Amino acid sequence: MSNPTIWLQTLGCAKNQVDSEKVLAMAAEAGYALAGSPEDADVVMVNTCAFVEEARAESVDAILDLEGRRKPGSRSIVIGCMAQRFGSELEQALPEVDAVVGIDRYGELVGILDRLTGWQPVQIRRRPVMDILHAVGRPASGLPYAYLKVAEGCDKPCTFCAIPKIRGRQRSRRPHEIRQEAEGLVRSGVGEIVLVAQDLAAYGKDIGAPGTLADLLADLSGIEGLKALRLLYLHPREIRPRLLEEMTRNPLVASYFDLSLQHASGRLLRAMKRPGDGERHLELIARIRELDPEAALRSSFIVGFPGETEDDVEELASFLEEARLDWAGFFSYSAESGTPAAEMPDQVDREVAMERLRYLSGIQEEITAERNAGWIGRVVEVVVDQVEDGTPVGRSHRQAPEIDGVIRLDRGTPGEWLSARLVGTHGPDMDAVVV
Ligand code: SF4
Repeated sequence: MSNPTIWLQTLGCAKNQVDSEKVLAMAAEAGYALAGSPEDADVVMVNTCAFVEEARAESVDAILDLEGRRKPGSRSIVIGCMAQRFGSELEQALPEVDAVVGIDRYGELVGILDRLTGWQPVQIRRRPVMDILHAVGRPASGLPYAYLKVAEGCDKPCTFCAIPKIRGRQRSRRPHEIRQEAEGLVRSGVGEIVLVAQDLAAYGKDIGAPGTLADLLADLSGIEGLKALRLLYLHPREIRPRLLEEMTRNPLVASYFDLSLQHASGRLLRAMKRPGDGERHLELIARIRELDPEAALRSSFIVGFPGETEDDVEELASFLEEARLDWAGFFSYSAESGTPAAEMPDQVDREVAMERLRYLSGIQEEITAERNAGWIGRVVEVVVDQVEDGTPVGRSHRQAPEIDGVIRLDRGTPGEWLSARLVGTHGPDMDAVVV
């Protein structure tokens, strides 16, 4: 029997992407190969997302799509947050799926694959399960950046969020383990490592080392060949002066602050069990810009949270006008069963929430364009991610992969780090010429 092949479709966040890469590396170590398409695969897998209703609908669509495309005799497995949260419901609703495997059971995945495919490679020595999950090298994606998950789970009480129920309490990985994985990524050709976790800035608190994200950054910066480190998902309550210092003083750390502020109305933030208000947010932003006037700032906001009024929306609009963030994402509130917010009175009508989201996104689009225009004429360091329709596309410290605008270059090949002069903007993107 030749090596069975796998096709894995990933949905959701960067943390899910990391899980998928580890699952594929684990399977590869067990002798499984990657299929070129779902139609060719012996096993099709979907790594699902369950964060909000839309994400769940997208996950079910993906499962049904692959069920329709997979070849006769092939097998199918559903993994990820939906499998973790709604395992038994999914098994009942989708009997055509051969296995539904939650995050807690990833250590059993190779055994499940073997059972489904009948693959028994006697020539391959298999390592203990848990060790594989945490220490496997990941397949080179060919991209010059990779995500590295430094912790799993979250201890925060945000009233709208089901993630702690899905991913459990915060479990930080040991610094040496993270460094080992980072070194493996750099050896595989990665230049930029993007650190992720549900609550990244709280890294280390659960292993008796609070505030050590800054130490981790300093340690990883010593890896030869690493060109850049970037952080995503910073909870404002966990941002300490030492971290700000490291992020603005360490030349290897992108001066890029992804602050998950969620709203500007103090009243709503209290109902969300989130810290601060517009004024406190502005103080944090001012502190960052004081340390580095060229720092890039991003945030995400929830619109339509129960009890949100037009005044709250205007308060957020004024905050955006004053904060002048480089980037922002807006999400319409989704009532998640089992979360306190889902039981709150004054649920906002979906259409009203979408109207507010369009209004606020419109304000931010203009601000983003203005922020970009302010960089025209400047020379920045750009990493080339890929070539799109013949045009090299990359990013500077101001752009995170996959969520912000990009820089279109007049020349360059993927993986190159180039100096380029910014010469124009169109929407969230910029044009640049290599100097
Ligand atoms: S910090 Fe993020 S992951 Fe944790 S509960 Fe709040 S929103 Fe959810």
